[in-house]
Amino acid sequence: MSSKNTYQFNLDHELLMKEAVEWTLNVFAQYTKVNTANDGVELTVGYADTSDIKLSKDFWQTIQKKDYSTKRFNSDLTEIDGDKLGAAFFFMNCLWERDANRTTDHWGRSEFTGSIWQEFGFKRPFCLVNNLFDELAHALGIPIPEEKSSVFLSHDIDAVNSAWLEDGKVALKKGRLLTFLKEMKNQITGNPAWFNFKEIVDLEKEYGARSTFFWIPTDKAIPGVGKNADYQIKSLKMRTELEELSSMGATHGVHKSIDDSSIKEEVDQLGLDINANRYHYLKFSFDDLITELNASGLKMDASLGYAEVYGFRNGYSLPFIPFDIDNMRSSSFVEVPLAIMDATFSRYQKMDGQKATEEILSFIKEHEKNAVISVLWHNTHFTDLKYEGYPAVYTHILQYLQENEMVSVSPLDIINKYLRDVHE
Ligand SMILES: [Zn+2]
Repeated sequence: MSSKNTYQFNLDHELLMKEAVEWTLNVFAQYTKVNTANDGVELTVGYADTSDIKLSKDFWQTIQKKDYSTKRFNSDLTEIDGDKLGAAFFFMNCLWERDANRTTDHWGRSEFTGSIWQEFGFKRPFCLVNNLFDELAHALGIPIPEEKSSVFLSHDIDAVNSAWLEDGKVALKKGRLLTFLKEMKNQITGNPAWFNFKEIVDLEKEYGARSTFFWIPTDKAIPGVGKNADYQIKSLKMRTELEELSSMGATHGVHKSIDDSSIKEEVDQLGLDINANRYHYLKFSFDDLITELNASGLKMDASLGYAEVYGFRNGYSLPFIPFDIDNMRSSSFVEVPLAIMDATFSRYQKMDGQKATEEILSFIKEHEKNAVISVLWHNTHFTDLKYEGYPAVYTHILQYLQENEMVSVSPLDIINKYLRDVHE
């Protein structure tokens, strides 16, 4: 006897891209926390109007032809030819970014500018896929369980040794000569202000939180492209630090450099037992990311976000296993969309600390249920000069999370919850 919460999806034989439809139904089942089994409540999935979940043959046909244009969407982006499941599939995998007519920046990144969100007049992404799933579940009489959101806190480490230059410059501009001299002395005595990892972990501990550090394995800049690390991960000082951070409960990941090397090569260079990646400068295209992560052996990536705006780039608030459309199968890793990054507020939107705090806390509040909110705070945003007012923003976030009993999770927590049970 099957329980009421168990369903079986009966797919019409004539369906195109069946693997993709099944993939989307699996994510839907994970979102609604229903079980799927052969003796469950039967739901038909097909092109016929009488189907419980109705798909659009036109839509799937164009996707099969690798036509990823957005012209079939209605003006508020809620439907493609009446096919909610198809729309969810399209968005979750950011398929518009594969449209040959889309523009990318000089690094080949898909930005918010030129995205489907901007094209349809939105100031930033919203949880469109959640809305589609909610509507679908409602129509099928499936209740949506509410689960408290958690957070994935992380720090990309690009710069350690340039605090005296960067913060120092700002100090000089503000006429704070003593601060500048102090920063220079810190650098000379091997104690630069951005070598602040233990302070970060201690601060998080005060609020019952934990985090992940992403390290760049190489320090060679690429002329005309950008910088990699300004530190040497193999130095004795860094090795000692990394070990101490681990013993304090922090997790490490690779911050994929802008070199041509593969993720696997960089993981080997790092020489640590790790599970997760985030691309430096968020320099990736999502289709390449899927190929590279699947080849890397890593189980998690945390790159899918925009630099210019906050929110969930693919319109979905939970970690998910991307569909590898080139090979028509699920990926072997889980993607954790990046929702909040310090530089979005400080550099791109030029907000002061107070305004940034308001925006971030209201975003977290808005997503206090059914989300994993990934927050990136660089070590450079913990000193008060170049990014004045920003250390306090992070403390406000930690305080809010503690007061609202929102737990911070590690890559392994996420992998165990979102990857393992689907592949079992
Ligand atoms: Zn970086």
